[in-house]
Amino acid sequence: MAAFGTVFMPHMAFTSFENNQWNEAAIVASDSIQLHPGAHVLHYSSTCFEGLKAFKHADGSIHVFRMDQNLKRFDQSSRLLSLPDIDQAQVSKMILDIVAQYSADIPEPPGSMYIRPTHIGTEAAIGKAAAPSESSMLYVLISPVGDYFAGGSKPLRVLLDETGMRCAPHMGMIKSGGNYASALGPILAAKRDVQADQILFCPNGDVQETGAANFLLIDGNEIITKALDSSFLHGVTRSSILTLAADMGMKVTETQLSVEELLKRSAKPNVEAALSGTAAVLTSVGTLIHNGTEHSVGSGEHGPTTQKLRQALNDIQWGKAPDTHNWLTEVK
Ligand SMILES: *Cc1c(COP(=O)(O)O)cnc(C)c1O
Repeated sequence: MAAFGTVFMPHMAFTSFENNQWNEAAIVASDSIQLHPGAHVLHYSSTCFEGLKAFKHADGSIHVFRMDQNLKRFDQSSRLLSLPDIDQAQVSKMILDIVAQYSADIPEPPGSMYIRPTHIGTEAAIGKAAAPSESSMLYVLISPVGDYFAGGSKPLRVLLDETGMRCAPHMGMIKSGGNYASALGPILAAKRDVQADQILFCPNGDVQETGAANFLLIDGNEIITKALDSSFLHGVTRSSILTLAADMGMKVTETQLSVEELLKRSAKPNVEAALSGTAAVLTSVGTLIHNGTEHSVGSGEHGPTTQKLRQALNDIQWGKAPDTHNWLTEVK
């Protein structure tokens, strides 16, 4: 199986913003775009994206998961980067159109079609370090993906980093390219130095998130995660898992979680920790590495509550459980 996100359907949905308006969207080849080497995005990182999925149900119908939430976040990211405001209705139609075109290529569960809307500043103006791009390009790439857990993934090893940060705090809730480049140096060092899979950024001891996923702690019947603020990415998976946890009668606590409390709770035998995101849904964290010491989270193995929550979310996505929160949009 090809690596996640390396296979693309040959066409994508495309539109551009010029002369203060969005052009009509079109379906175009997905293997190239035309961009001036002086384009704003290439110099000043005026770029944001989204990640969502379409699922094939047993009856052959196709459904996109929580598209409204991703569109809202895409709109917010574009605005916070001073890119042109997106037209959510247009982008919604672009997503549904390109997914419909490739409905026959959507993998059966546990696979899905990953959808990557992308918005970039295209104005050729290298003098605009402190001014927005007046033109932009917005396209929707789609990529069939398989089972993230194929091959029996091991619980992750995660380094707690209290001194660095993932990105500038005012950029935290923007899904923007520069943030990932910003976190790459520390993540590569953590992989090399302590064989960590990810860094859990905990600036000044405040447990925040990893490079591309939110962090959830499960302590018996309680699920704990950082309360929303503008310093980190507001994951749609995070919010969905919290909703399902509440549906199951779990206590949902959105609060400030300190490294000290995280390590204290992790030492208990029935505690679980997980990373949440669209790509992997929920991935178990088995080990926390802190100041040179390794701490198992609970048993250090995949936990039953993590598995139960992931299954509950998958069941809705795959049409095996009723969509009680109206999270699915059918593609016709
Ligand atoms: C995309 C992303 C997440 C997860 O968001 P979902 O909407 O659940 O996919 C979390 N953190 C970061 C930094 C992200 O980029």
